[in-house]
Amino acid sequence: MRASRTAPCARTPGFPDLGKYAVIFATAITLLAGVITPVLAYTRAERRTLQNSIIDRRSQLNPKYKKVPRKKTRFIIVHTSEGGLNSTLRVVSRGKQIRRGYRTNGGHAHYVVSRNGRVYRILNRRYVADHAGRSMWNGQTDISKVSIGIELVGYHYGEITDKQYRSAGLLIEILQNIYDLDDSAILTHSQVAYGKPNRWVRKPHRGRKRCAKNFDHRDAGLAPTWPHDPDVKAGRLVADPELAAIYYAPRTASTRRKGSNVISATNTAWNIAGDEYNSPTTIYKLPNGKTVPGDEIEDRIGWNRIPKNTVVHLNQQDGDPARADQGPVKKLSNGHTAWDIAGFEYNKATTFYFFPRGSVASGKEVNDWDDLPADTRMIVGYRGPFEVTARRPAGVIAGVKYNKKDTIYYFPNKKIVPGDTVSDFKRLPKGVLVFLPDKG
Ligand SMILES: [Zn+2]
Repeated sequence: MRASRTAPCARTPGFPDLGKYAVIFATAITLLAGVITPVLAYTRAERRTLQNSIIDRRSQLNPKYKKVPRKKTRFIIVHTSEGGLNSTLRVVSRGKQIRRGYRTNGGHAHYVVSRNGRVYRILNRRYVADHAGRSMWNGQTDISKVSIGIELVGYHYGEITDKQYRSAGLLIEILQNIYDLDDSAILTHSQVAYGKPNRWVRKPHRGRKRCAKNFDHRDAGLAPTWPHDPDVKAGRLVADPELAAIYYAPRTASTRRKGSNVISATNTAWNIAGDEYNSPTTIYKLPNGKTVPGDEIEDRIGWNRIPKNTVVHLNQQDGDPARADQGPVKKLSNGHTAWDIAGFEYNKATTFYFFPRGSVASGKEVNDWDDLPADTRMIVGYRGPFEVTARRPAGVIAGVKYNKKDTIYYFPNKKIVPGDTVSDFKRLPKGVLVFLPDKG
């Protein structure tokens, strides 16, 4: 039987002023209705609207992906894609690079939900998607064969947006109706993934993935479900302490499922990246600014000697984002998101975006993170802009650092020029903007 739910936005209906007996009667009816019929979080009209708005991307599927009809559907698995919209759509449809030269054939999800709530259909839901990898739930292994996979665009250590929760909740409800699944059938990838013994854990274990650990059932209009991990309880797997605390410990108001991708004494590479800790597509950005791919950490640094405050970026399909551009000016291209480049700074007043059409905005002024145009350039850790005028020349604005590499000049012709390569400070055109490093 379907568990009853409350929509995140559900309101108590107002009763007409007929006295308290009317209220008691209405309450009794409501309670009775809750017992007899499933209480759905969304209306039929809402579900139909969502269904009609799904963007069909099936034609983008890698033709090498072998479509196999799924015999049973027992679960719906929620993922976080650890990337921006474009790279997510590309990877789930076309495939991902696992080790240098080796690619998968795509088909890694049935649906993708963007951060502004748009739903994309990647693969017809009747086929098996290759999304859960090594996985087990309640003794059932190879969860991909018996489940539907939904990718939420975003990061397991970030926020899932309200629009994503609403669309995912609607989509899940539609699928629950089709496949007759109750709320306990909705699981996250990190709940069902398990790993073979490795250098971090000596037994078969949970924790291979951190995927969607920030997905809160209740925010999607679902009832809380499993009070324990059935495979840990049965002794088939050992628990991952962090995941167990998120999913199965009694929840208090302060238990938020937010994590961090910054290495600390308690937040190891394994905590952040799961079994992708040593992948070439996992990039470690050290506090000194240098970047090292996961497959080179062992030789170049050693797993026990990664400095604190190193930032870990997963799924860097095209390698190191910082390597692509030299100097402080970075470019959003090849599927790199603002998050890849700026981390937690992406929406700060000290991060600036230079759009291809010429306008400039700080991270605080950008609203739609899904639709940042390709080739947008950005600088992180800056103050400004300060306009150069006859009364306020560069030397007055920037002081002695006016001709240093870190002082950035933005020209009306959209050129971004570091201070050390400006040819003539006396002839700066009208309207040049200066950006100064925030520190120093
Ligand atoms: Zn996943």
